[in-house]
Amino acid sequence: MSQAPAERVEQLRSQIEHHNRRYYELDDPEISDADYDALIRELQALEEEYPDLVTPESPTQKVGAGVSVLFAEARHLQPMMSLDNATSFEDLQAWVKRMDRFISGDVAFNCELKIDGLAMSLLYQDGRLARAATRGDGVVGEDVTPNVRTIGVIPGQLDVESQATPSVLEVRGEVYMPISAFEELNRREAAKGGRVFSNPRNSGAGSLRQKDPGVTASRELAFWAYQLGAMEAGPSFTEHSQTLEWMREAGFPVNPNIKTVHGLDEVDEYCRHWLEHRHDLDYEIDGVVVKVDNLAQRLELGATSKAPRWAIAFKFPPEERTTLLRDIMVSIGRTGKATPFAMLEPVTVSGSRVKLATLHNEDQVRAKDVRPGDTVIVRKAGDVIPEVRGPVLSLRPPDLPAWQFPTRCPICGQPLVRLEGESDTFCVNSDCPGQRVMRISHFAGRGAMDIEGLGERTVQQFSEAGLLRDVADIYALDFERVGQFEGFGEVSITNLERAIEASKGRPLANLLVGLSIRHLGGTGSQVLARAMGHLDRIMTAEVEEMATIEGIGPVIAASVGQFFALEANRDVVERLRQAGVNFEGPQAPSAPQVLVGASVVVTGTLERWSREAAEEAVKMRGGKAPGSVSKKTTAIVVGAEPGTAKLTKAQELGIPILDEAGFAHLLETGEVPPLMSLEAPAEELAGVGDADRPADDRLHADPADG
Ligand code: NAD
Repeated sequence: MSQAPAERVEQLRSQIEHHNRRYYELDDPEISDADYDALIRELQALEEEYPDLVTPESPTQKVGAGVSVLFAEARHLQPMMSLDNATSFEDLQAWVKRMDRFISGDVAFNCELKIDGLAMSLLYQDGRLARAATRGDGVVGEDVTPNVRTIGVIPGQLDVESQATPSVLEVRGEVYMPISAFEELNRREAAKGGRVFSNPRNSGAGSLRQKDPGVTASRELAFWAYQLGAMEAGPSFTEHSQTLEWMREAGFPVNPNIKTVHGLDEVDEYCRHWLEHRHDLDYEIDGVVVKVDNLAQRLELGATSKAPRWAIAFKFPPEERTTLLRDIMVSIGRTGKATPFAMLEPVTVSGSRVKLATLHNEDQVRAKDVRPGDTVIVRKAGDVIPEVRGPVLSLRPPDLPAWQFPTRCPICGQPLVRLEGESDTFCVNSDCPGQRVMRISHFAGRGAMDIEGLGERTVQQFSEAGLLRDVADIYALDFERVGQFEGFGEVSITNLERAIEASKGRPLANLLVGLSIRHLGGTGSQVLARAMGHLDRIMTAEVEEMATIEGIGPVIAASVGQFFALEANRDVVERLRQAGVNFEGPQAPSAPQVLVGASVVVTGTLERWSREAAEEAVKMRGGKAPGSVSKKTTAIVVGAEPGTAKLTKAQELGIPILDEAGFAHLLETGEVPPLMSLEAPAEELAGVGDADRPADDRLHADPADG
């Protein structure tokens, strides 16, 4: 290190204090949690190496931050502490080993989701909510009582027998904003040009810590209780799990996913499960909190100055990072849609290196107000495409100019057009080489004709050499010339030839997908193929006729009509026919149309049907088989290891839950059989595999683009 350790320690402390203030007091952090944690870790390492430099004021020794002048001070009866962190199984093992010095015998653990919200302590006196306070510095918090009273799920009065009512009680938990509410709030704010929050945590904390409780009341906030603090004259408990049950009975929302387990392997299993399923929830979690269940053992373990020894937070890998936005570019999709995207200083998010992120369209860039040169928050959640959440305004260099959408196509140079009332901008030159390459590689891609070896780069090479001008050219490819390209030996040419030959037999629906007809996606293609049975029927059908097909509608029908009205497209179809490409689809349904208007969600593994076959069976009978549960769902069919989110939502909405026998009855009669709901709680039925999650890593993952 070029800097003296003492100097670096001082520098880190002042940086961390600054970020603490932005995070805890202003609810507007400048850096991501992962970047903040890196500063803390560096400081911790230096303090371990040079113990003389440790002071009681160091942020490594203190909890949170002070109290804002906006609120009165509220002294906690029992301190609200922080949590030690683990990021690996080894860290958890080390934690258990440290505990061995204090306790012996069997240890049961409570595994709880680590809710990414705002810690809250609710004080009840003689059963009535008397005060609500934020954590503050752990000893003194901020009095936010009027604000908390506006949160409907927090009981104003305990629901317990009067003789069992504690005279004093502290209930700790997390106030949070559901993801759906956060997205809705941001939509509303963006529409009126207001402040857009970068994530639900800041949005929830910012909505609660308001001088005017009226603002809090206008925001949708929720609460999970997870800990008892001080208690006088109430029931006595020996286990934490009993306290959770009691809080639930007293009227507090207690998270249904909390589980008591034995041994670290089960802890590990719980952590892995929720790492995979964190996005099934309508609230953000940033890890799992593991706690010792036995309260006597907890007392023996005690606490350090900052955190209890009986609990640890297993933190998930970060999904948000801050980085530099180098530039904003525009890419051209297969329908000519011009999509702006961010070129970022590469950064590792959710375990993968991210250097590009979509910005969707002109309005989104404007609403987010991101400018080349900004420090931006980048998010990559699971399999979903990376996203730029917004700029860190406090780090914006002065006079940074706003970004302007280009007026010309970056590939063919023709003017870009944005029609009135549309949010997307298009290159309308159908001869644009950029569009051509995207159309051909889409035709050859998965979900369409699936031609291995004909990816975007190869198509681009062939197209530049004049070998491919449209999709029909694939079937007249000059393999002698292909052999002159670098990397195309005999084997790869034979493989490509075979792959092209095999693609001729793909189902009609795949061919329809491959033609890049605007608005016609995978589902619409299947519906159309099934209803019409042959490409010639589709080409000659009246738009009105197609519009009456369930699942097609006037917009898709008109777009299909327009597509085949163009001579150039009909010419491509003729050449595909001559090449021997399959034009026939499955026959029109023979099954009785008993499910018209019904919507049936399938989750988990069934014995008699694969997921696809079960959904197909619903569609064959005129019903819909969407991937998620809503108020409109008629019934949910549950196999082994169903998706927790779907099942929980169905239970919340009171939607009939069917097993296989119930499903068979529904398919036969169109009626939901009586008394078919499964009684097992969600966590028992919860499995590992929910294959419905969209996994699309492409930059242009926009179903409207084609
Ligand atoms: P922590 O957030 O890692 O853990 C303690 C907190 O976990 C508790 O206070 C509670 O609010 C919460 N929690 C959620 N679910 C819980 C459950 N089931 N049981 C118990 N507690 C639960 O530690 P911390 O000391 O509160 O805060 C440090 C963290 O805050 C950092 O690691 C970082 O993520 C974030 N932070 C970020 C910035 C920034 O600038 N981005 C600044 C300061 C802090």
